[in-house]
Amino acid sequence: MRALALADINSNSNSNNTKTTTTTTTTATTTKTKTATTINPDRPFLTNYRCLWARFPTKQAGLSPGAWNETHGTGCAIQLFAGEGTSVIAIYERLEKPTRERIRFGPDDEAAFVARWGDLPLAKDLTVREAYAMKLQAGLVGLEEGVVRTWSWGGCVVLVGDAAHKFTPSTGAGCNNGMVDVVVLVNELYAVLGGGGGGLGQDRRGGKEEEEERDEREEAIAKAFEAYQTKRRGAVEKFCAASGKATDASTWKNGLVKFLDVHVLPYRRVQRFFLDRGAPEIANTPVLEFVEDGETLPAGRVPWVESSAGARAEPKSRKVAGVGA
Ligand SMILES: Cc1cc2nc3c(=O)[nH]c(=O)nc-3n(C[C@H](O)[C@H](O)[C@H](O)COP(=O)(O)OP(=O)(O)OC[C@H]3O[C@@H](n4cnc5c(N)ncnc54)[C@H](O)[C@@H]3O)c2cc1C
Repeated sequence: MRALALADINSNSNSNNTKTTTTTTTTATTTKTKTATTINPDRPFLTNYRCLWARFPTKQAGLSPGAWNETHGTGCAIQLFAGEGTSVIAIYERLEKPTRERIRFGPDDEAAFVARWGDLPLAKDLTVREAYAMKLQAGLVGLEEGVVRTWSWGGCVVLVGDAAHKFTPSTGAGCNNGMVDVVVLVNELYAVLGGGGGGLGQDRRGGKEEEEERDEREEAIAKAFEAYQTKRRGAVEKFCAASGKATDASTWKNGLVKFLDVHVLPYRRVQRFFLDRGAPEIANTPVLEFVEDGETLPAGRVPWVESSAGARAEPKSRKVAGVGA
């Protein structure tokens, strides 16, 4: 079975990166269907921006914990978030030309970046250069964007987090979506395997019977992987697009977004409108379905929704203490 699957990969990758095949193999005892096997392109992500990030001590920088700031401009934008102990900045710069090549930056690139944008103010009496000089950690990275087409291979390999989808960090959604991926995937696997792992790794009997059971289990896991992708795909595509748009707007990619960024989006009513539109989806964030409730979550205007992973449910309060409208 595996050898045949590999032959499939090769024939697909030789012909057309977008092709989907279903392979049916007949053995002495059973007919088994290998599920859809789509090969992803070598470079699925597009890089439009590079980003210098740095972490530095809040107190030394003269910032108050909780302070934050966004500065927008042509081709460049800055975000600053001050925490209790340390603060973080991200400086976004649009590339001259988008690329699908993987970009790696070295110390010279980082120094040139700081030389270019170092004079920009982060706060009163604090510039990018000064904050960078206090850095505890820093890095210059290409911001890859996109959603990989196929997230799993049979019941053997499955992608979560940045391996499956990458966003610009403007909306702080990348890592969060990776964690939601894991929640949805675990729910799907739990439904198939149960809490004990469905006997994974416990085959003792050997021979044909064991092989059949293993194939059946692999097929069930493959279906769980596919269900996971189906449930997550729409959401991550939306988040990816929204993050890209936020970065475009903050770096004034064109006259229209500059106009909206300067004259429309700063109004609190407009911001509230967009936040309210997004809130129901956040309230419906998937949870581990097999874990008993009991967690106390902060209450907000929009109540948490008890839902199966990715499925929309009628809004109702999550069954936890202290949560409600
Ligand atoms: C500047 C910046 C700010 C961000 N801010 C936020 C934010 O505020 N909120 C948010 O939700 N997200 C944020 N993100 C996104 C977030 O960092 C990523 O979405 C998250 O780190 C992805 O986690 P991951 O585990 O999927 O992948 P990664 O963090 O990339 O982890 C993959 C790991 O696998 C290792 N690895 C790779 N190849 C191999 C191999 N062949 N063998 C063994 N190990 C390997 C890598 O070294 C790495 O440790 C930000 C990203 C950037 C760049």
